[in-house]
Amino acid sequence: MTGLRVRRGHWMPTSADKLEEARHRSGDVPHSSGSLLLTTSHKSDGLAELLRSVFGFARFRANQEAVCRAAIGGRDLLLVMPTGAGKSLCYQLPAIARGGTALVISPLIALMEDQAAKLDALGRRVARIHSGLDRSVARQACVDYLAGNLQFLFIAPERLRVPGFAEMLAKRKLALIAIDEAHCISQWGHEFRPDYRQLSRLRTSFPKLPIAAFTASATRQVRHDILKQLQMRDPHLYIASFHRQNLRYIVQECEARTQMELLVPALRHYAGESVIVYSPTIRRVEETVEYLEESGIAAVPYHAKMETPMRRQNQERWMSDEVRVLVGTIAFGLGINKPAVRAVIHLSLPQSIEQYYQEAGRAGRDGRQADCVLLWQKRDHVLLEYFIGKISDDAERERASGRKRVISRFADSRGCRHRQICVHFGETPKWESCGSCDNCGAKPEWLKKEIVTVAEPKVATRKSSFPPTPSPSFYTPQLRSEKPRVRDSAPAEADPVLAEYLREWRRNMARENKVPAYIILHDSTLEELCRRRPSNSAELKQVPGIGEKKADVYGAEILQALRNCGDGARATQTVTREASPAEQTLRLLHEGRSFEEIGRIRARQVSTIVCTVASLIETGQIKLDAKWISPDAQPLIEAACLKQGVERLKDIKEAVPPYVSFEDIRLVVAHLRAENRVRAKTA
Ligand code: ADP
Ligand code: MG
Ligand code: ZN
Repeated sequence: MTGLRVRRGHWMPTSADKLEEARHRSGDVPHSSGSLLLTTSHKSDGLAELLRSVFGFARFRANQEAVCRAAIGGRDLLLVMPTGAGKSLCYQLPAIARGGTALVISPLIALMEDQAAKLDALGRRVARIHSGLDRSVARQACVDYLAGNLQFLFIAPERLRVPGFAEMLAKRKLALIAIDEAHCISQWGHEFRPDYRQLSRLRTSFPKLPIAAFTASATRQVRHDILKQLQMRDPHLYIASFHRQNLRYIVQECEARTQMELLVPALRHYAGESVIVYSPTIRRVEETVEYLEESGIAAVPYHAKMETPMRRQNQERWMSDEVRVLVGTIAFGLGINKPAVRAVIHLSLPQSIEQYYQEAGRAGRDGRQADCVLLWQKRDHVLLEYFIGKISDDAERERASGRKRVISRFADSRGCRHRQICVHFGETPKWESCGSCDNCGAKPEWLKKEIVTVAEPKVATRKSSFPPTPSPSFYTPQLRSEKPRVRDSAPAEADPVLAEYLREWRRNMARENKVPAYIILHDSTLEELCRRRPSNSAELKQVPGIGEKKADVYGAEILQALRNCGDGARATQTVTREASPAEQTLRLLHEGRSFEEIGRIRARQVSTIVCTVASLIETGQIKLDAKWISPDAQPLIEAACLKQGVERLKDIKEAVPPYVSFEDIRLVVAHLRAENRVRAKTA
């Protein structure tokens, strides 16, 4: 890269930035006020005006203006800036300024759709071609392109392999070529895509066009590779610093049990704030959500094997602050740009520093302090090795091993985390210590507290999902088959229905007493209860794990629960076993049960039941019943919806009296959405 000037900068959205945007939207800022960042000599050339009139932004961020000018002037471009920094503007504005069509290459349909939709909303003429669309759409896109009707054409890289496609493009004037997620071109990158190699042909096909490449995470080696592969000529380079000062990196090695014992207080610490929890496998996503629910923390799962509507709904519930904790696999997060995420918690070692940086970097996009917590376990290595072993290409497998070694070293090291990340990406920080990572003395409150140890680790026995299952496993709401440590002489099979019943009782007790479930009764004790079915106090005390104290406090309740399960409750449970959660809820509603009762029977929180009922209402499977919501709440909520719209429950909540709950709002909004749909259909 000799002879190339690399500009380095620091990016962080400042509150001034936000204020400026807000003011601009509300029209407080006179259009001529310009920006402090604009150099006066350029003020007259209309770039700022374009920024305002097309994008509605009052001023450029960090280096955007210089980058735009370089691109408008026909320079090639490599821009490395964190996600959310505003890279897209750096091809969009030059494209508009240069005239003609910009060809945008993007690796993922979701990203393409997102960008295209945004440009469309700005009144730009946009088309996209990818495998998720009908052929006729692609054909129309080509027709529009050839007619000179497009400002932006989005394509997937493999499109360039289609015979005649490049020739078709050459028939008209392209404004520039933009390559998003450009690190995918490099085999040294953590997201190498062989199809991106096609892009090296672009220079030959379009020798005169400027090529602009964008990425949020590229090491020095990857940057070199991008320049080389794309055959860039005297490119304008801008590499923002990888030092995200508002982030606090906390790395902690744990055992399976302590991991959950840390996660719960951690999430309590961030209560009311948005958090992402990353889990390595689908099974562990499900288990974690379940565990959190048992601990009284509402969380939604997100992974690739979920039904699309449910996945989307969970994402929306998290985006709209309805549920604050989202537990997902790495499938979650692309294109998600939620500014106020206060923590990203990893439950296992990521595959590379780049991946960690990208995922952890979803915290604190608003520029305020946020925590990136890595709770890793020794066994994570096994899972990583397993994934690496599945890579068939020798060289690629070797590179993956290399990435794993680096992230392992990162996790183990005593050095400043911020510094290690910066160095990894080719920076040489002048400072040695940051003050905001665990190795520089920063420790969150919840980590300082001593970890309570119990005799029989619940999680260790429950979460024995190793060796890793090759195919994604699904959570089925059946009983876990953990083996009790101490086996009685007569190991009678535990009654699964009774066991589920007792678990449910335990969850309720735990919630009432605000303690973890295992504090009430340990799993092994619960199993013994099922096996022995004590019918009086003396028999109860014979059960391992039930001492005088427990018998005293819970004895009567437990005996009652055992008796209850003998008759009515048990029948309901058996019937509802196979049905889907929605079907179960629907049936119980028809039986006239209250949400609380359904919650108890289904062993779910009331808020979960309300969500299910809301989707049932929204999909027209059941009608809203006035007795489900607080008295007089409905007209208040409806009035608020008229003013605020039904998109953000939080806005509605703020517009109604405090006694109106989120549950009330959720149900009425579902009702309104259902009505709207009916009206739209009949209209
Ligand atoms: P990146 O591609 O770097 O991840 P985006 O281009 O998607 O980031 O931009 C992130 C957000 O920042 C978008 O909502 C965009 O509208 C906004 N943005 C970009 N430039 C500006 C600006 N100059 N002023 C205000 N907001 C901006
Ligand atoms: Mg982008
Ligand atoms: Zn540090």
